[in-house]
Amino acid sequence: MKSWTSRPVPQLPGRMPALRLFDTAQGGLATLEATGEQSMYVCGITPYDATHMGHAASYVAFDLLNRAWRDGRQQVAYVQNVTDVDDPLLERAAATGVDWRDLAASQIELFQTDMEALNVLAPDNYVGAVEAIPRIVPAIESLVRSGLAYRVSGTAGESDGDVYYDVEAAGKHSAEARDAWTLGSVSHLSDAEMLELFAERGGDPGRSGKRQALDPLLWRVAREGEPSWPGGELGDGRPGWHIECTVIAQQYLPAPFTVQGGGSDLVFPHHEMGAGHAYSLTGVPLAKHFAHAGMVGLDGEKMSKSKGNLVLVSKLRAAGEEPAAIRLAILAHHYRSDWSWTEDGFTAAKDRLRSWRSALDRARSGSGAALVEELRAALSDDLDAPRALAAVDAWAAAALASGPSAASAADAALVGDAVNALLGVEL
Ligand code: ZN
Repeated sequence: MKSWTSRPVPQLPGRMPALRLFDTAQGGLATLEATGEQSMYVCGITPYDATHMGHAASYVAFDLLNRAWRDGRQQVAYVQNVTDVDDPLLERAAATGVDWRDLAASQIELFQTDMEALNVLAPDNYVGAVEAIPRIVPAIESLVRSGLAYRVSGTAGESDGDVYYDVEAAGKHSAEARDAWTLGSVSHLSDAEMLELFAERGGDPGRSGKRQALDPLLWRVAREGEPSWPGGELGDGRPGWHIECTVIAQQYLPAPFTVQGGGSDLVFPHHEMGAGHAYSLTGVPLAKHFAHAGMVGLDGEKMSKSKGNLVLVSKLRAAGEEPAAIRLAILAHHYRSDWSWTEDGFTAAKDRLRSWRSALDRARSGSGAALVEELRAALSDDLDAPRALAAVDAWAAAALASGPSAASAADAALVGDAVNALLGVEL
């Protein structure tokens, strides 16, 4: 599928030092080795709704990582999926009387326009679930053959043959190996926590015929009125969500790739199960590191469609708000923290953007290189954007306090380039 278009990234003198990033699976900061080549998979949207601030914050967070790597002269291979067939999409399409394909296409278009506006660098491969089905089917067939997946008979009108992943068998299968996956390797949650989250986030713990409540769906066989695709030995149907991301990542990225990213609501079951699927398929971990962005609320409440309190990037843009200010409002919060979008926070971001821009005319001679160093130090330390913003604030305050006679065009250019290259904000 076509991705969006990245804006050019200025090259800065010098380079980013080695990065440290919080790894959920390791439970602490990990140093990302500067091997010259990095690879990242960030889970994409299910296109049934417009991009809300939570999505935007998550993609901006991993965009900081992408930019930090590039500044460190690392080649970055970046892949993102789009779950262009899944239950929520089909349900929304049915509820609104729109063809599910038209709904997906319109929301993908809107998402990509939002990402472009927010200056998020595009993935090298933007891959839909539907286009990945021909590769997903043989992967599930091989899990069935190796005894790590099984078919469930239908009850109460359900079709026969849905295929589930056997988490217990998969954990035992690989238990002797170093780096092996067992349930909990990524999330480190208790059984009770897993069960609760599984039910909350699209799992079906109560489905009869499953060996374990937590076994996730790999293949849903065709139902009347639902789209389906040829599934070889599995029969016609459509894929589960976790295997979709696993197969797409394995197709386009090395194994293991460097960072699996997403919002913290993807830790379990999505990234946990994806890591399991990958290990079961190849005997190699899916990713070296798992990184997660915090959740964004509105005025202290959880943001959700059902509460009707989604802050949409597209709506802000339509109201004439500048995307750079939206991005700055996001960057004022550390990517791992949960935070709330507020009108005050957005006003502060707009003020900040104005102040930075007006300071450019008074950039003091020699101030640019020092700021670049501070920005790199902040971002290499677990993408500490609030610290980076504070550094630019201090630079701007000093510039505005000095007379126009000290202004240096070269420093203004360097600061503009650095804020653009490292923070993705064009001054
Ligand atoms: Zn995913």
